[in-house]
Amino acid sequence: MFRFRDEKAAQKIIESIRREEVNLRFMHVCGTHQDTLVRFGLEAMLKDVGVEIRQGPGCPVCVTTTNEVADAIALADAGVTIAVFGDMLKVPTPLGSLGDAKARGRDVRIVYSVEDAVRMAPEVKSMVFMGIGFETTSPTTAAVMVEPLPKNFSVYSCHRLLPPALHAIINMGEFRIDGLIEPGHVSAIIGTAPYDVFSEKYHIPQVIAGFEPLDLLMSAHHLVKQVKEGRAEVENEYSRLVRKDGNPIAVKLLERVFKPVDRTWRGFPTIPMSAYDLQEEFDAHNARLVHEDVLEARPPVAEEHKGCRCGEVLRGLINSDECPAFGKACNPRYPMGPCMVSREGGCNIAFRYRGKL
Ligand code: SF4
Repeated sequence: MFRFRDEKAAQKIIESIRREEVNLRFMHVCGTHQDTLVRFGLEAMLKDVGVEIRQGPGCPVCVTTTNEVADAIALADAGVTIAVFGDMLKVPTPLGSLGDAKARGRDVRIVYSVEDAVRMAPEVKSMVFMGIGFETTSPTTAAVMVEPLPKNFSVYSCHRLLPPALHAIINMGEFRIDGLIEPGHVSAIIGTAPYDVFSEKYHIPQVIAGFEPLDLLMSAHHLVKQVKEGRAEVENEYSRLVRKDGNPIAVKLLERVFKPVDRTWRGFPTIPMSAYDLQEEFDAHNARLVHEDVLEARPPVAEEHKGCRCGEVLRGLINSDECPAFGKACNPRYPMGPCMVSREGGCNIAFRYRGKL
């Protein structure tokens, strides 16, 4: 396991949890949290003192559906240039991956930001930026939309909102949630108020957490305390960055550029008001409208590879290594699902740090 500073402090937190004699299951919804939990061995340390933590639908690449990736492939096949973040390239679909499309000569470009895609647009006939991510990354897409844009630039928005997914997972009731660890970066944008309902209505303790090992251990400790004391509230462990009202400038920008719409997530049925589509003002740059003819002509594809259990991983029902394909038929070189592709995906993280091969 990787070493980290303050291991003595970590041990004290662990011993404090041990004294509570609990048997609890918490969920987090963040790839970076999962990385920290596994990389530093916190997952095992917590399990040893009665706290199991599972990753929910918190990897943007993983929750993007096969049909959305297939849309991007269809656009590339129709001669459109597709700009995507690198993690999307290897996501498999029945039509192959965007990487396969690139290999057969389609113009698929890896970008590090939406600005890269805007800058490249004048070089090509038609440029589509595939926007993925939660409230952390959607403000960057929104920021370019309010600036003058090349006529041939459009956005295929796969951006999603986190709180509706939490509603969905709680209401589906498949996973007993004794507490939620909320992601610090999303919370820095949306603030703490959107989580209140989960404590008030469902009596679920919550802690907003940063990304260092001690942040996560302290969050688990706070959740254990809430459970033991019969409390259910939203505690902000990441107060060095997260304010109650979040980032009002970013929120205002999101409201100006995007509107929440119903959308399917991988492994979930349609979740009401869970995704961002562009407001009508931006129709001329909305790839779902600009290229409607290509997208409508594409037949739907099956959502999951037959043997892939990403949906269950994303709903917290199984750990990655419980999937029979893990580390065998499915590995980062030959992934069967996005959870093995993305560095924020539970299977990829488990593979990298647990060395199951
Ligand atoms: Fe899917 Fe591979 Fe993860 Fe199994 S190990 S759930 S096949 S991505």
